[in-house]
Amino acid sequence: MQGSIGFDTHQQLVGGRWTATASGETLPLINPNDGSLLAEIGRGGAADIDAAVQAAQAALEGDWGRLSAAERGRLLLKMSALVLEQADELARLEALDVGKPLKQGRADAVALARYLEFYGGAADKVHGETIPFANGYTALTLREPHGVTGHIVPWNYPMQIIGRSVGAALAMGNACVLKPAEEACLSALAFGRIAQQAGLPAGALNIVPGLGEEAGAALSAHAGVAHLSFTGSVAVGRLVQAAAARNTIPVTLELGGKSPQIVFADADLDAALPFLVNAGIQNAGQTCSAASRILVERPVFDSVVARMAERYRALRVGPALDDLDVGPLISARQRDIVQGYLGIARDSGLQVAAQASLPASLPAGGCYVAPTLLAPAAPDHRLAQEEIFGPVQVVIPFDGEAEALRIANGTAFGLVAGVWTRDGGRQLRMARKLQCGQVFINNYGAGGGIELPFGGVKQSGHGREKGFEALYGFSSLKTVAIKHD
Ligand code: NAD
Repeated sequence: MQGSIGFDTHQQLVGGRWTATASGETLPLINPNDGSLLAEIGRGGAADIDAAVQAAQAALEGDWGRLSAAERGRLLLKMSALVLEQADELARLEALDVGKPLKQGRADAVALARYLEFYGGAADKVHGETIPFANGYTALTLREPHGVTGHIVPWNYPMQIIGRSVGAALAMGNACVLKPAEEACLSALAFGRIAQQAGLPAGALNIVPGLGEEAGAALSAHAGVAHLSFTGSVAVGRLVQAAAARNTIPVTLELGGKSPQIVFADADLDAALPFLVNAGIQNAGQTCSAASRILVERPVFDSVVARMAERYRALRVGPALDDLDVGPLISARQRDIVQGYLGIARDSGLQVAAQASLPASLPAGGCYVAPTLLAPAAPDHRLAQEEIFGPVQVVIPFDGEAEALRIANGTAFGLVAGVWTRDGGRQLRMARKLQCGQVFINNYGAGGGIELPFGGVKQSGHGREKGFEALYGFSSLKTVAIKHD
């Protein structure tokens, strides 16, 4: 099925060939902008995953495995250049598939290109060491690929997540099997075409779309997979970790979050304001590191809420191709979940400080939710504890550093945190005491910072992707001790 997409969306990439799934079955891909049928994708199953793992194994023993690190790096750089060339088309696919406003999809494509550039450049710069050891020995370490790596990716940032996990895995010489999300996988399929255009050897990257409980579960459980990288929900992360345990293989889990931005009374509020709101509504709030909790010191609480409210009222919501501030959510299901949370807010008396308006002209079948700011919220309210995954933020007042830390650390999650203060000592104390994987001081997100290791603690997961650190995760250390005297 080609339609407006421009390629056969129902195919999968296995061993360098685009083929139908073993069963020939397909799944509908729904356009969240208007609820229409966008395309059909393959419904990959255990047989397709098995073929993909075998193709990856063959690539490791064949052309892909024979490349030097520098040659692998050059291929990634070629892929990076092609992604940049095709960034507008990738953004268009993401607008139709995910409902992401064009400029946000383009930013994702640029980030994917940058990941490939970073990991392409790093491919031949990861090395082992020699170790001072007993007389008569030379001891050294080698960094080797794991082998076949499995990559299970969600729908919210397909390009960025493929860049950080597949990019790093290929740089280290692994062969990848990628299972994109069933709700949105067009950019993943386009990425497979780009890899081929760049000349990536057959089988180094295999892509099998399908349902999580079918293709995803089969990939997690496959005995030929040597490492799993999973990004998604906590519930599925547990299943993937259990499957990895049965094969005793390492797994990286990048899960959900309930990340705070903490605003102290001495902060530069003009600098903070755009970050406070943007980090809640970007990608319609469907971001693992969304700042869904804003903690504000009491002396500036009312003014921060008033200024955030002003921004909320000015937000423009509409179809992704109109490239406004906020597009639709990914699906009717996700929209209903978020509406359910807004119902809980209403029933529990949580006040709406501001809500963007939804224009009457929005397509009837679209999955739109009005961005909503709720304040003041108690730290233990359900909406201040659970990941909503929609354009909804709660604002929580606090008194002093100790209470800010208690509230910030008082959820099951620990992904990222932002702190706004001019006090240098407090910046360092907060950075050390916040329970999470990344802390941003006087900024939030560091512009995506692909060089910066990323991952969570507590229920936000474990393992690190992004930056150089990911290259260690996607490789295995071998020690060699040579007795020569
Ligand atoms: P999800 O867990 O439902 O799905 C993620 C992926 O897992 C999809 O490809 C899906 O097909 C697959 N899957 C589903 N069931 C499976 C199973 N039984 N076995 C193997 N794979 C299975 O998550 P979602 O709703 O698509 O994504 C939203 C979640 O992802 C949120 O919680 C969000 O915070 C999290 N997320 C985290 C990060 C991060 O880097 N920490 C980034 C993006 C999203």
